[in-house]
Amino acid sequence: MVGNGAPAGATPGTANVTRLTLLAPLDGWATPLDEVPDPVFAQRMMGEGLALDPTGGTLRAPCDGVVLTVHRARHAVTLRADCGVEILMHVGLETVALGGRGFTVHVAEGALVRAGDALIDFDMDLLAREAKSLLTPLIVAGGPAATVVEVRTGAPVRAGEVLLTLLVQGDAAASAATGERTQSAEQSVVLPLVHGLHARPSAVLAAAAKSYAAAVFLAAQGRRANAKSAVAAMSLGLRHGDALTVLAEGEDAAAAVAAVAAAISAGLGEAPVPLAEALPVPSLPSAAVPPHDEPPVLEAQPPFAPGETAVIRAVTAAPGLALGRAFRLQEEEVEVPASGLDADAERQALANALDRVRARLAAAVAHAEETRQTQRRDIFQAHLAILDDPDLFDEAQAAIAGGESAGSAWRGATDRSAAALRALGNPRMAERAADLIDLRRQVMLALAGREPQPVILPQGAILVAEELMPSQLSNLDAGRLAGFCTARGGPTSHVAILAASMGVPALVAGGAAVLRIPDDAPLILDADRGLLHVQPPADDLAKLERETARRKVLAEANLKAAAADCVMADGTRIEVYTNVGKVADAVKGVAKGAEGCGLLRTEFLFLDRQTAPDEDEQAAQYQAVATALAGRPLIIRTLDVGGDKPLPYLPLPREENPILGLRGVRIGLRRPEILRTQLRAILRVRPVGQCRIMVPMVATLDEVRAVRDMLDHEREALGHAPPVQLGVMVETPAAAVTADQLATEADFLSIGTNDLTQYVLAMDRGNPDLAARLDALHPAVLRLIRQTAEGAAKHGRWVGVCGALASDPAAAPLLVGLGVTELSATPPTIPDIKAALRPLDRAACVALATEALAQESAAAVRSLLARAGLAVAITEGAA
Ligand code: PEP
Ligand code: MG
Repeated sequence: MVGNGAPAGATPGTANVTRLTLLAPLDGWATPLDEVPDPVFAQRMMGEGLALDPTGGTLRAPCDGVVLTVHRARHAVTLRADCGVEILMHVGLETVALGGRGFTVHVAEGALVRAGDALIDFDMDLLAREAKSLLTPLIVAGGPAATVVEVRTGAPVRAGEVLLTLLVQGDAAASAATGERTQSAEQSVVLPLVHGLHARPSAVLAAAAKSYAAAVFLAAQGRRANAKSAVAAMSLGLRHGDALTVLAEGEDAAAAVAAVAAAISAGLGEAPVPLAEALPVPSLPSAAVPPHDEPPVLEAQPPFAPGETAVIRAVTAAPGLALGRAFRLQEEEVEVPASGLDADAERQALANALDRVRARLAAAVAHAEETRQTQRRDIFQAHLAILDDPDLFDEAQAAIAGGESAGSAWRGATDRSAAALRALGNPRMAERAADLIDLRRQVMLALAGREPQPVILPQGAILVAEELMPSQLSNLDAGRLAGFCTARGGPTSHVAILAASMGVPALVAGGAAVLRIPDDAPLILDADRGLLHVQPPADDLAKLERETARRKVLAEANLKAAAADCVMADGTRIEVYTNVGKVADAVKGVAKGAEGCGLLRTEFLFLDRQTAPDEDEQAAQYQAVATALAGRPLIIRTLDVGGDKPLPYLPLPREENPILGLRGVRIGLRRPEILRTQLRAILRVRPVGQCRIMVPMVATLDEVRAVRDMLDHEREALGHAPPVQLGVMVETPAAAVTADQLATEADFLSIGTNDLTQYVLAMDRGNPDLAARLDALHPAVLRLIRQTAEGAAKHGRWVGVCGALASDPAAAPLLVGLGVTELSATPPTIPDIKAALRPLDRAACVALATEALAQESAAAVRSLLARAGLAVAITEGAA
C-alpha cells in the first residue's frame, strides 16, 4: 500500500500532448540528478529524471504500466507507462556487482502493474555496506518525447506522493494513450557474435536499419538505443548470447524489424555462433548501467631535466627498434564560441564542415584502395560511417537548436559518445573512443576554416604525444618518422594497427612520464621489449650506433652457435626451446637453434575455424609441427580457451570475470569430449615418444589426476599406447605454492609467467592502463618461481618457463638461478639466450637470484640485472 497518492498515470492534455504524473517509488530524500556521483546519470546519458536516497526498502511502481525489463541482477527495472514513456529505476549505484544479493523481485517482465505496486524489496543494510551508494535514480529512459514540467527535489518524499510531471508529445503518446498504435513491431533475438556488438557489426546494423523509414531501436538490459546509430548500438555493450529486442515504429515497421533481426541473426557480416553450444553454466549479470570510466587525467609533472636519464615501460603496439630525437606533437587547439548566432547558420556551417571532412576521408579511402592498403581503407571507412552517424548528428542539431554554436554542439556530441564508449569498461570499446575524438578534431578544424596542417618532422623523429589519432599518423611523413610512443592508447587501437602496417615501431600506454620528455631529447625506442630509454647517457647514445654494428656481428655469431646445446661454464645444461603457435614457428625456432618446442598453443592452430576440428584434423596439425621439429621434443598444451582467448567454434557463456572463470583445463574437464578428442589426436603423433602433454590453468591436484585418468583411458582404448609425459603449467598462485604436491602427479612443471604475473599482481594482462606495471620481474612473481622449483625438486621433476619472461635474455641467468632448467622462448631470442647463459656459472646465477628475491620492486630487479652486467643490450636479439 502507498500513502496519500495523487492519481498517477497519463491524462489527455491538448492535442497530441499527454500529461504523465509519476509518484515517488519509495520513501526517501528526492535529489537532483546532478548530485548523483555517477556521470552516466548526472550527465543525463540515460535521460532526464531525479534520484531518491531511500529511507525505506521497497521500490514501487510510480505509475500504471507494463514491466518491460527486470535486470538479471534484480537491481533495476523498466516500466512502460500507458502513454508509452519508459521509466528506468535503478536501486543504488554499481549494485549490479552484487549479482542479485539483497534484492527480492515481485514482478516478472510483461506484468501489468498499478501505481504503488511493490516491484523490488532491497536490503538497505547490505547495500549500505557493499554498494557505492543507495541513491536510486528514476529516469525517463525512452518512449515518445517527453518534457519534465515539474519535479520535486531537495525534500523528503513518501512513496506514493507526486514526484514528477511530464508532458508527453506526439502521435505515439496520443495513440498509445487511446489504445490506437502507429504501426509498430518488435522481435527478440539473441546476439550470435562471439566478440559482442562491436564497431564493425554495429555499422552493418545501422546501415540495415537506415534503409527503412521507421524509427528502429534495440532494447536490452533496460536500455534502448537508436539502431540507425552505430555509436549508440555499440554503447549498449552487448555481448555474445545477450538477448535483445528489435523494435520499430512507423509505416514499414514490420519489414524493418524483420530485416534488422534477420541481419543480427545472420551475424552482421561475421560468422554467427549460436550460444546453444556454450557450456551450461549460469552467466552472471552484466551492468545495465556500466560504471562511467573517464580516462584518468594524466598528472602534469615537470619535464625531465637535461641529461636526466629514464626508462619508460610501455606496451608494444608495433615491434622494432629506433634511435632518434623526441618530437612532441602538440594538439592543434580549436577555440569555438559556446553559443551560436543563428541556428540556421550554425546548422549550415556544421553541414559544410562535415562535407569537407567526408570528402577528405573518401579521398583517403580511395587512395588506400588503389594502393591496396586494406587496413588503412577499413579504418577510414569506419570513420566515414561514424561521421554519418544519425545520433551524433541529431544530438548536435538539438544542441544547435538550444542555442549552441556548431563547434560546441559537435564537440559535446562526440565527447558524450566517447564517454559512453569508455564507460563500457571494455578496453577495445575505449580504444574506439579515440576515433570519435579524432573526428571531433577534424570537424572542428573544418569549422574554423582550417585544414589539418601537415606536421613537418625532422628526419628520424620519435614522436611523443599524449594520444595519437589515426588521421594524424596517416598525415605524417613515414619516411622521416622513426617511431612513436604515446602516454595513452591501447595495443589494438586503430593507430596501433596503422603503425604496424606502416612498419613504424610504436609503444602506447607509457603513462604520464611520456609527457615529461622534452622536445629534441635523445631517445631509444625499444618496441620489442616495451621500453623507451629517455636521454640515455651521452656515451650510450654515441656507443649505441657503434654497438648496433657490433651487435649485428655478435648476433650473427650467436646465430651461428645457436644450433649447439646450451651448456653453461660449469657444465649445467639448460634446454632452450621455442614457443609455437603455427607450424611456421616451429620451422623458425629450429632455424634459430631451438632444441624442441616447450609450448604449442593448440588454440592458435584453429583460430579462424568456425567449427571444431575433428580428431583427424588435429592429429594432422600436431604431426606437422612434430615433423617440422625433426624428432625434437614437442610439448603440446591442451586447449587453453576462455579468459582473453575466445575461440569462434567454442563459444563460452558470458561471465562477469572471465579471467577468473572458465578457462584452460576447467573447460577440458567440463566438456570432456573436447579434451578426449585432443588427447587421442596427440597420442597418434609419430614417432611415439616425441610428444609430451601439458595442462593449462591448473589450480588443484584433482585436475591433474582427472586429466591423467582420461589420458590413461584413451591410451588403453588405443590399444595400450605407450606412456606419455604429462606436465602442468604453473599459471595460478595456487599451482606455484602447491608445486610440491602437483609434482607428485606431474612429470614436469612449466611456468606461464604471463598468467602467473596477472594473478599474483591482480592486474588484468589485457588492460592497457596496467600494462606498464605488469612486470614478471616483480619479486612476488620471482618468489613463486623459486617456490615452484623447490617443490618440483623434492620429487625430481624439472621446471621450465614458457611465459614471455623466458624470451628476455636478460632474465635468463636469474631464472636459472631460481632453479629453472628449461626456457621456451620466441624464435628470434633463442640465439641470444643461449649466448647469455653459456659463459656463466650456475653458482653466480644462484647468487644473483638470491639478491633479486630481496629487492622491493620489479624496477629494482631490473637495475640489479643491469648492474650485474648480465643484461643483454637492447640492440641484441631484435632480429
Ligand atoms: C602464460 O600464461 O605465461 C602462457 C605461456 O600462456 P598464455 O600466454 O598462452 O596464456
Ligand atoms: Mg597462460
